[in-house]
Amino acid sequence: MKRSVLIVEDEEDIRELLSYTLLREGYQVAAVASGEEALAVAEARIPDLVILDLMLPGLDGLTVCGKLRANPRTAGVAIVMLTAKGEEADIVKGLNAGANDYITKPFSRNVLLARMRAVLRHVGLSSDSAERDEAGVEVRIHNLAIHPGRHQVLVDGQAVELSATEFRLLHALVRKPGWVFTRDRILDAVHGDNYVITERAVDVHIVALRRKLGAAGRYIETVRGVGYRFKD
Ligand code: CA
Repeated sequence: MKRSVLIVEDEEDIRELLSYTLLREGYQVAAVASGEEALAVAEARIPDLVILDLMLPGLDGLTVCGKLRANPRTAGVAIVMLTAKGEEADIVKGLNAGANDYITKPFSRNVLLARMRAVLRHVGLSSDSAERDEAGVEVRIHNLAIHPGRHQVLVDGQAVELSATEFRLLHALVRKPGWVFTRDRILDAVHGDNYVITERAVDVHIVALRRKLGAAGRYIETVRGVGYRFKD
C-alpha cells in the first residue's frame, strides 16, 4: 500500500520539488502552503507522515505540530520538521512538541528519503499500547542484545553491567533507532527512578554508557545542540 505524505511548506519551489521527489518515489502526496490548510487536510484524510516547515505564515510549524499531536485522530502520524540552519532552539522545541525527526534546509534528496523511511518504519509502534507490548521484548541491533525483563545487555554476547538509569536510557534509544531524543525526552524515558536527574545528568549518563559499551558506544550519536540518537 502506498504511504501518504502531507507536505506543509509555504515556499512554492521547495513544495513542488518535494512533491515531485516523493511522487517519483511512489508516495501518495498532498501539499499545502499553510498550517491552517494542513490541519484541515490532515483531519479529513489522515496521512502517514507530515513534512512540516517550521516557518509558516499564520500558524507556525510548532503550533501545527502541537495541534496534530493533541487531536486523537492525528496524534499518531509521523512528523518530520523542516528547518533552516541555525534554528537549533526551534529544533529542540519541535522535537519536544512531538516531531519525530527534523531535516535542515537545504537538504539532500537522499537524506530526506532515508529519514522518512526510518520514521515510517516506526509509525504505529509509538502508540501507547504498542509501546507497552514492546517494553518487555528483547531488542537486537548491530552487535547488541537488550533484554528488558532480565535487565541485561549483551555486546557481542558478553554481558555489560549497567546502572538502572543507564539501562533505561539505552533501552529508550534502541527502541527507536534513528530517532532523535532531546534531553527532555530522555528524562521522560528514564523517569521512574526514585531520584531526580537533570538535563546535565543525561550527558553524564551518556558518557558512562558509551564507555561501558566499548566499541558499541559509538552507536549512540550526539546530535549537536539537540540531543542523542541510536544509529539506525
Ligand atoms: Ca517557510
